[in-house]
Amino acid sequence: MPRTLDRREIIRLGGTALGLATVMPRRLLGRAPAVHTGSVKPAVVASRNGLRSRDTAGATCVEKAFALLTGESDPLDALLAGVNIVERDPEDSSVGYGGLPNADGVVQLDSCCMHGPKRRAGGVAALEGVRTPSLVAQAVADHTDHHLIVGDDAQRFARTMGFEIEDDLNTEKSRRLWLEWKRRSDPRHYPDPESRALAQHRAGLAMVAEGLIDPEHYYGTINCNGLSPRGELAGVTTTSGLAWKIPGRVGDSPILGAGLYVDAAVGAAGSTGRGEANLFHLASFLVVEEMRRGAAPKDAGLAALERVAANTVEKRLLNSRGLPAFGLSFYVLNAHGEHAGVSMYSSSYAVCTENGPEILPTEALYDGQSEG
Ligand code: ASP
Repeated sequence: MPRTLDRREIIRLGGTALGLATVMPRRLLGRAPAVHTGSVKPAVVASRNGLRSRDTAGATCVEKAFALLTGESDPLDALLAGVNIVERDPEDSSVGYGGLPNADGVVQLDSCCMHGPKRRAGGVAALEGVRTPSLVAQAVADHTDHHLIVGDDAQRFARTMGFEIEDDLNTEKSRRLWLEWKRRSDPRHYPDPESRALAQHRAGLAMVAEGLIDPEHYYGTINCNGLSPRGELAGVTTTSGLAWKIPGRVGDSPILGAGLYVDAAVGAAGSTGRGEANLFHLASFLVVEEMRRGAAPKDAGLAALERVAANTVEKRLLNSRGLPAFGLSFYVLNAHGEHAGVSMYSSSYAVCTENGPEILPTEALYDGQSEG
């Protein structure tokens, strides 16, 4: 039978805990508290396309990243080797080479990465001509004192760093889809910018509804986060962004705190889906902060989605139930190796652990499907 503590013992135990809390209030600790101590289960989590494209040896993003991460590789190098498979795949029309272009038919890419142990981060936005923007983002982190370089100057930086610059990253497929979208949303019929934007958005959604574009690729990105057996966290997000965006439009993907956030002691989170909803909330940062306060990955992710939903008030963004009409997902991993995928509506995510690669369902905030 368990022994009951007497009053003096209770005061002593409680007193110890209270004493600590009084002497070391959280905000005065120089270092952010880790959510977990003890065992570390290495893991790689990614959006679903992390388990689709394959390299010449047949490996997918999450498998390649996990194999390298559990070997001797630097954690960020491991993840980059994984997402490079997707960036180079002409069939993935949401990332890198063959990504769906902007309204002018030009492929503009966004990416950022964070290295937990080194506390380094880098990003590029609206970069043209480089198939692997994630590697240019890493070069920003490693070779500059900055975190974000954009547009023509990002390309100039990439050239200086020795990246191959191509004239056009369209494939036959991405160009064909863009031409179809142009035909449907002929700008001559919609002279004012607002009705033009509406017509263009409708044309895009109609193409999704008709199955010409997979909904994942209208928006569409890859986020990939990993934890090594040594407890090192890193993350990367890379995308061609919203299909047929206004030239120069930058979404959440290359923005630290929005498309990705990694805290070496706490965890990592990154996103895919409607970038504007995420940018408004810096929601990847929010997810990591929820974990810092002790939330499990799933609860941390859902808390961020709830915040986004609560602030979605414009009618054009709501469905007939008055809920956000768009999709938004977070891929969350804590410093212990626990993970979750969460999404506004039902979806799935890719994982690789010691048990091998798998696709798991996300925890959805709402029943039903997103509408774009
Ligand atoms: N979040 C990306 C963007 O808004 C697109 C996506 O993930 O689908 O650019």
